[in-house]
Amino acid sequence: MSGSDYNLFWTEIVRQLMEEGNLSKQEHDMWFRNMEFIKGDGDFLTLGVPSNFYRDQVKQRYLNLLESRLHDLTGSSMTINFEIRKNNRQAQEKPITNQAQVESPESRLSSSPEEHTQAADRKPHRQLRQDYDFDGFVIGNNNSFAASAAQAIGSNPGGAYNPFLIYGGVGLGKTHLMQSIGNSIHYSMMDKKVVYITAETFINEFIHSIKSETQSQFKNKYRKVDVLLIDDIHDLQNKKETQEELFHTFNALYDAKKQLVFTCDRPPSELRNFTDRLKSRFERGLNVDLQPPNFETRYAILRKKLETISTSIPDEVLELIARNVTTNIRDLESSLTKMVAYADLVGKKITVEVAQQQLKGTFTSTLTANITIDRVQRVVSEYFNVTPADLKGKKRTKQVTFPRQVAMFIIREITDYSTTEIGLEFGGRDHTTVMHSCQRIEDRMKGDPTLEPTVGELIRSVKERS
Ligand code: ADP
Ligand code: MG
Repeated sequence: MSGSDYNLFWTEIVRQLMEEGNLSKQEHDMWFRNMEFIKGDGDFLTLGVPSNFYRDQVKQRYLNLLESRLHDLTGSSMTINFEIRKNNRQAQEKPITNQAQVESPESRLSSSPEEHTQAADRKPHRQLRQDYDFDGFVIGNNNSFAASAAQAIGSNPGGAYNPFLIYGGVGLGKTHLMQSIGNSIHYSMMDKKVVYITAETFINEFIHSIKSETQSQFKNKYRKVDVLLIDDIHDLQNKKETQEELFHTFNALYDAKKQLVFTCDRPPSELRNFTDRLKSRFERGLNVDLQPPNFETRYAILRKKLETISTSIPDEVLELIARNVTTNIRDLESSLTKMVAYADLVGKKITVEVAQQQLKGTFTSTLTANITIDRVQRVVSEYFNVTPADLKGKKRTKQVTFPRQVAMFIIREITDYSTTEIGLEFGGRDHTTVMHSCQRIEDRMKGDPTLEPTVGELIRSVKERS
């Protein structure tokens, strides 16, 4: 086989994967456009990529698939190698997929397309927090893909990733990342109008526009923007009319190649009481998730947050916090804030012992934050010898209604789930049913002295299983 044969194989594999739908156009643009064939030699094929980050992502996502395809085509086992080519030509032409930026976000602002006026002294955006920018966003195990896509959008809104949807649990950085996109565009492209709004405000404004007969103003306001950022779209569940309105806004902006960005607490497919056509619009572009950060990332975030604060906190204390607060970044930050406040108050350096003492409550409450409805249902159903399905089902016999009420009561006691959320996990019951059930258990505790210890024991075993 000659070198050019290898090149042909490579081109053919990529073509096939796209044709079969194993590689979407979006994925291709993101990961393959900046990958170039370098050489083929014996059992090796070498590809050029712009950065280590890029290489790791491609390996994780595609290496197995690519190598097995290569095997199919050539009939022999081949290994793919990657070479980092910093001055990758295409990558330079298209800063959007130049992943070197991901590794040094500092270089980001300098790379806005020429046709836009630089606007370093543009006034801060009224709806965006100034500190929510890419420089303050630590890239870690949990968010690297989301962050690189966000940066790509920041330098080329309305380009390849439209709409862009970030999903994940509370406090994992959705709003920060979304607003970073907004700030980046706001400051680097004078001619772009960025609008940020929470879904909740969008709903309220929409309802208000109906009442005050100002619907056309409302429509105009949201259809004349270049970048529309809507935060927490799960709040649109059950809001059929607003969904309908957003659907039309979406289409108008999308057709005009304007950038749409959404955040959501779950993948769009799991939205309930949501029109399918809007859901499928969300899914049309790039959907990325944010995961809870690992220890290294938690530690890096704490260090980053400390940069802006003059109080010094010893590394051991940061480590203690990073080890113990595993839930999300908001909790992580509030533990740090607590320590900083305490250090300022007593006017001396915090020791690990003091930190431990001061944060004891926080550490255990973040433990309970890990408790899921599902776990409580399992523990309670085992204890009462019924099944979790019974708890969620329709049966109203005493054997299941009592355990069901106990489970709801416990969830209400030791987690932050709302009665609406709890109801949904119990076969779609109404929140008033949940409230009523909890009340029943409380009442019974007054008359039955054995109930409280039973509930206490159940709570202990739920926590032990966390
Ligand atoms: P969400 O919208 O997902 O609930 P936020 O964006 O409000 O979460 O993030 C919660 C807090 O954590 C914010 O103060 C944010 O600045 C911080 N945060 C989240 N992710 C990161 C990160 N990767 N680097 C630095 N700070 C972060
Ligand atoms: Mg948020």
